[in-house]
Amino acid sequence: MNNYFIILASGQSKRFNSKKQKQYNIYKNKPLFKHSIDKAVKSKLFKKIILVINNKSLIKEKFNKNILIIKGGKERSDSSLIALKYIKNFKPKNVLIHDAARPNFTIKLLKKLLNSLKHNKAVIPIINSKDTIKYKIKNHFFNLNRKNVLLTQTPQAFDFKDIYNLSIKNNKNITDEAALYIEKNLNIKFIKGENFNQKITFKEDLKNNKTFYGIGFDIHRLEKGRKLFLGGIKIPFHSGLKGHSDGDVIIHSIIDSFLGAMRKKDIGTFFPDNKNKYKNIRSTKILQPIIQILNKKNLYINNIDINLICEEPKVSKHREKIILSLSNLLNIDKELINLKGKTVEKLGLIGKEKAIACEVICSISE
Ligand code: ZN
Repeated sequence: MNNYFIILASGQSKRFNSKKQKQYNIYKNKPLFKHSIDKAVKSKLFKKIILVINNKSLIKEKFNKNILIIKGGKERSDSSLIALKYIKNFKPKNVLIHDAARPNFTIKLLKKLLNSLKHNKAVIPIINSKDTIKYKIKNHFFNLNRKNVLLTQTPQAFDFKDIYNLSIKNNKNITDEAALYIEKNLNIKFIKGENFNQKITFKEDLKNNKTFYGIGFDIHRLEKGRKLFLGGIKIPFHSGLKGHSDGDVIIHSIIDSFLGAMRKKDIGTFFPDNKNKYKNIRSTKILQPIIQILNKKNLYINNIDINLICEEPKVSKHREKIILSLSNLLNIDKELINLKGKTVEKLGLIGKEKAIACEVICSISE
């Protein structure tokens, strides 16, 4: 296992419109470059991992001794050469060179690269272009056949001696190591890359999908002769829920969980029950404005989990209908909704079938 992993994170982020260089920005809860380090460590495939950055003082973390942090050069190719020179003393056999801006590669890809390297000097992951590409020379445009357009990704894997000798002779500003082999018409083994292993280039690519959680709880008394509404539909039962509105505990709890996730107080603030406007209103009607707020803020629902707490009616009998109704009301897939029934061992008001309670937890994202 004489493998080394070089992570290039010293780019100047010219296309990245932010004060902070992109490699230090937080992506999925950690700095961008950290994803590559963590994956390389987890893979247990490498003797040393070399992180190349341009400002060591920005790294506050302490890494273990197999992770070495060095200062890069002006251009990407300078940094890559600095790293190769640096690891030369360790006498490596194989080296993978990777751009920190691609945090989403898999360990499976690392294994494939190293396996392929047993019979090749250079192994490069490629994917087909999804876009139709035009090629411009001065003021002339050329159509490229999409089938012939191949996009190279990183990590790229090399026999150390091979890439070292090529890099040391190179005086061009290249944007990946595969270019050195192509320039000299040397053999490359191309393997299938990963479509999701996209390069994070623009600030928008990093837009953190912030996720929020909210909790909701509600309880209403049961009253003989009233209609029972749960999750927006009528359920046949001898009693219904008493309340200012139709007493739909499921919808009320869902509303409170959404408001909670949006940090917007509670249902009582939005729909005061001293207002005649809301008297006997169907709860589905008061859910709509809340959905509108979610839509306006571009928030989407990841999932909701519901506990309906009652002895009767039995949730299992009505589960599918309630979930279907909620999926229509919330305009989300049924798969994102879970409904559990919970009895209370005949204890208290709920146990004596005098009330029904409900609790909901929801997750929403930007
Ligand atoms: Zn209520």
